[in-house]
Amino acid sequence: MAFKTLSAFLLGLAISRVANGAITKRVTCATGETTANAACCVLFPLLADIQENLFDGGESYVHESLRLTFHDAIGFSANISGGGADGSIMTFEDEELQQPANNGLDEIIERQVGFLSTHNITAGDLIQFAGAVGVANCAGAPRLEFMLGRPAATGAAPPGLTPLDKILARFAEVDFSPEEVVALLASMEGNLPASSRSPFDSTPGVFDTQLFIEVQLKGTAFPGTGTTNGEAQSPLRGEMRIESDALVNPRTACEWQSFADNQTKLKSAFRAAMARMAVIGVDRNTLVDCSDVIPVPPALVGSPHLPAGKTMDDIEQACATAPFPTLTADPGPETSVPPV
Ligand code: CA
Repeated sequence: MAFKTLSAFLLGLAISRVANGAITKRVTCATGETTANAACCVLFPLLADIQENLFDGGESYVHESLRLTFHDAIGFSANISGGGADGSIMTFEDEELQQPANNGLDEIIERQVGFLSTHNITAGDLIQFAGAVGVANCAGAPRLEFMLGRPAATGAAPPGLTPLDKILARFAEVDFSPEEVVALLASMEGNLPASSRSPFDSTPGVFDTQLFIEVQLKGTAFPGTGTTNGEAQSPLRGEMRIESDALVNPRTACEWQSFADNQTKLKSAFRAAMARMAVIGVDRNTLVDCSDVIPVPPALVGSPHLPAGKTMDDIEQACATAPFPTLTADPGPETSVPPV
């Protein structure tokens, strides 16, 4: 992009009133936008560049960018220095992409790495920023926090990530509860095989609770060629389900179910869990809050429902202590899910 980093620095101060009437000092950047901190001005040209030259490539880049935030951050161990949301998956790509859990991330890394040479940002910041911007393009999503200032990675992350139990164990090392991990998995969507473009729910372009509903429908068929890549049987034509995503797991089943008809809870839990994940291995106190650079996501249209052709009899109850919420099905012929 034409913008130079230096030109994005502070031009002057503006005073604006926030909703509660308090007066807050804000900074006007060279590019005209206002933000809470001059350090955040470098992000506006990057935001425009990413929207125009990454996310114009379609929905799959949003999904992959979000997946990258997770795979960079989770590469962490309390017993090993470094790691976390440090951009190591990009900086030490050759090493980290040899781990099977990181299969298929080479394409999104290749798409994102070019922004490092044209913007003044570290790989760790770029990955989390691109993820937050991508989420902002999804109707119904929360506006994610973005903290700026992650230092450069010093080494590759330790290996080991895939089945849910391993993910929970890894997150437990950094004091995440299973409930928080469930909120994250809502959008991370496990380890999608690189060759697959089958989504995990019938509404892949929006941030809604359908994943939590459809994961509880009885599986009836494989979406493609069968049992490769840890796939499980899916309830809808064209929908992907992987074994670790089925989450028929006593530790998470009730938490999973609680999101099925609660968009507000999902947004709030996802935002909180993402905020924690985005600073794994990083001292949050050294970062600058640039959340106001992230666009406000469009509102969600529609409400929680069963896919057309399904009834409550198709729900496979997994939570032992509470019934699945009663939902009605969309009208029309049975839902099938086109590739993304
Ligand atoms: Ca990392």
